[in-house]
Amino acid sequence: MEQQIKDLRLRAGEEIRSSATLKELDDVRVKFLGKKGELTGLLRGMSQLTPEERPIVGKLVNEAREEIEQLITQKNSELKAAELQAKLASERIDVTLPGRRVHDGHLHPLTLTLNRVKKIFVSMGYSVEEGPEVETDYYNFEALNLPKDHPARDMQDSFYITEEILLRTQTSPVQARTMERHKDNEPIRMIAPGRVYRRDDYDASHSPMFTQVEGLVIDKGISFADLKGTLEDFSKKIFGERTKIRLRPSFFPFTEPSAEVDVSCVMCHGAGCKVCQGTGWLEILGAGMVHPDVLKMSGYDPDEVSGFAFGMGIERIAMLTYGLDDMRLLYDNDVRFLKQF
Ligand SMILES: [Zn+2]
Repeated sequence: MEQQIKDLRLRAGEEIRSSATLKELDDVRVKFLGKKGELTGLLRGMSQLTPEERPIVGKLVNEAREEIEQLITQKNSELKAAELQAKLASERIDVTLPGRRVHDGHLHPLTLTLNRVKKIFVSMGYSVEEGPEVETDYYNFEALNLPKDHPARDMQDSFYITEEILLRTQTSPVQARTMERHKDNEPIRMIAPGRVYRRDDYDASHSPMFTQVEGLVIDKGISFADLKGTLEDFSKKIFGERTKIRLRPSFFPFTEPSAEVDVSCVMCHGAGCKVCQGTGWLEILGAGMVHPDVLKMSGYDPDEVSGFAFGMGIERIAMLTYGLDDMRLLYDNDVRFLKQF
């Protein structure tokens, strides 16, 4: 019996030492110390011993149990420490690595320019009005003093969907729609930003789709001086304080008198350069006093009120403020280009 206990201690020690995981160690514990374990088996065999032998063997069994328990406890902490080390190593985070940057989207240069223009006019008390891009012939042309046989319609080659429906060639229909909503010569101070469509080439300075902002002011006693002052103020705000403007007589069916508005060249400030083709001036706007017939058609009384209107291409302003020489850059969606704004 004593030899048996000695063997058991040796085997248990051996198996505990060679346990590689906590699970294996627990199996060893059950094998030797469990209810059906080997040591418990030995205790049961003690009934066959003489009363003199029993205390001696019992002492040996208890010593063996204590030793095995101690070995298991020791091995247990060793394995736990090793597992923790392994876990730490596998889950290690290098806090010195630079973080992965989340790329925010950002606004397109046309949107940025449009927002600047809107902000300037909103600060002058203008409202921002919108309208449909698919428009009726009436609002796009007739309400703006362009009856069906009017030669000026040729100035704007259009995309017709049916005889009566087309893609708007200007944002002016929004003006007509806004005027119609107002009654009793109610004053208006509005801009209409948006996309417009004309049958045109697609090259460095033309596109069949572009972005326009038109403005309209109607009130008692509005004069050409108000128009000039407003556009001068706008030009200084968008192109810089040094900017001067120049008005040249022109023709538009919906305004009378009408003017082309030039600003002093943003590159050379009037000295003459490649951008302004040596003239020192850049054409950026069309404007004029609202034609009495246009006022009448939308329910306003030209004897009571007067107004001015203007229109500009946002692409042109974006190209001038960002120094772009090809309009197509704004539409090509080349991320290398767009990322710069
Ligand atoms: Zn110039």
